[in-house]
Amino acid sequence: MSIATIRHQGRRPPKDARQISTREHLRAVPTPTATTFFSPPRTVSENLGVPTLHRTVVDYANFDHAASTPALESVKAAVDIALRTYSSVHRGNGYASRITSGWYEEARAQVHSFIGAREEDLVLFTRNCTDSLNLLARSLPKNTTTFVFESEHHAALLAWNPAYTVRIPVPGSVQDGLILLEGALRNAAGTTTGPRLVVIAGASNVTGELWPIESIVSIAKRYDARVALDAAQLAPHRKIDIDALGVDYVAFSGHKLYAPFGAGVLAGRADWLNDAAPYLRGGGATASVTSKETVWTRGAARHEAGSPNVIGAIAIAAACAAFDTHRQVIEAHEEALARQLNAGLAAVDGVTTYSIFGPEHERVPVTTFTIDGLESSLVSAVLSAEFGIGVRDGKFCAHLLVDALLQDRDGDDFSGTAVRASLGLANNAEHVTRLVGAIATLADEGPTFEYQRTSQGWAPIDDPRDLTLPRPW
Ligand code: PMP
Repeated sequence: MSIATIRHQGRRPPKDARQISTREHLRAVPTPTATTFFSPPRTVSENLGVPTLHRTVVDYANFDHAASTPALESVKAAVDIALRTYSSVHRGNGYASRITSGWYEEARAQVHSFIGAREEDLVLFTRNCTDSLNLLARSLPKNTTTFVFESEHHAALLAWNPAYTVRIPVPGSVQDGLILLEGALRNAAGTTTGPRLVVIAGASNVTGELWPIESIVSIAKRYDARVALDAAQLAPHRKIDIDALGVDYVAFSGHKLYAPFGAGVLAGRADWLNDAAPYLRGGGATASVTSKETVWTRGAARHEAGSPNVIGAIAIAAACAAFDTHRQVIEAHEEALARQLNAGLAAVDGVTTYSIFGPEHERVPVTTFTIDGLESSLVSAVLSAEFGIGVRDGKFCAHLLVDALLQDRDGDDFSGTAVRASLGLANNAEHVTRLVGAIATLADEGPTFEYQRTSQGWAPIDDPRDLTLPRPW
């Protein structure tokens, strides 16, 4: 008898056996707080009280969404549900394993639709956007030349083999950028063989400005180059449509999309990914293993060896679903707050905001600024200690861009750093009012309390705040 004909008969259930709903075990899981159609989805970080030097406790104003976002309530609820049946993916036949495996692949399908991927595109779950871009870099065919603007985040700037990378200077305008890109591709056409890849951010993590993706794609196509979109800052704010944009690859992180459970995404054309050596070698990535030969599988699993982060993937899928449902209200919410912030900052003397393409250029709600006479790391320390506001200072892993933007800043020698305020779903109008007021006070009068420079950066000299909490475990 051939193996294919062996069947296990099984015992038929008694005739009156009750159908048990597979959903019954979900009942005990709390559902997320209701969100009305007109309010943006809520995050789990709402009403987080933080202590200030004034010995008050204020609602935490989180202006660091560009670095990491709190989980959406609906993401946390999806994770809670998924944890009840959490089990091995693609390895077990038990009920929980079947459910988990099914949801993992459904998460892939949800992401596929979220980014408008072509049917034949692969969706791979990674650790984060940096991981996604490194995976792509390792999958490039031999002799691929990569073209990248120096304004990119280090994840997109540094992932590529430097011997085959053409760096394009930070442009002064959109037109300048397109001319520089075309020039770089034209030069390379005469001097290089092999495929070409243009890497571009959808939105700058420093200025929030949108890059002209469609124009870049049309130039790249003229030179037979593929385009990889670093959507880390775009995905949380704008609809991405791979097919309509004509980009070949998209990378983004779950933790910037309100799904901070350690997963990211790389999606795009299957051919290079299927032909590349597996990113990780091990179980799950093989088609067959004999003592003589290992044959690697094709498709997403080729690069996802080991037990995948299924909870992270489900979290991303839940975030994608929330964005698809609430897109309009999210964009309206962010636009209103960004308008309030930018108008507020424009009215404060001594504050400079920065842009690559000009102040009127369309952007996601990320604003980078400096205050005359104040070091950026001091500004962020004071905003936190005196006002309960969280921002980021430094060069935001985009050193070449920040150096270029701040090069004309005269007078101060503050190591060329700036402050970034990036807003999102954890913000409300009071937060923006508080931030603008705090910046105006700082620009006008400086800090209220005394600070000293420590190995951890600026810190208040007398600090009555208890900055610890009991361990969560
Ligand atoms: N690209 C951009 C534009 C980013 O802003 C970031 C994160 N700041 C990354 C890539 C890297 O993302 P991650 O740290 O999640 O890998």
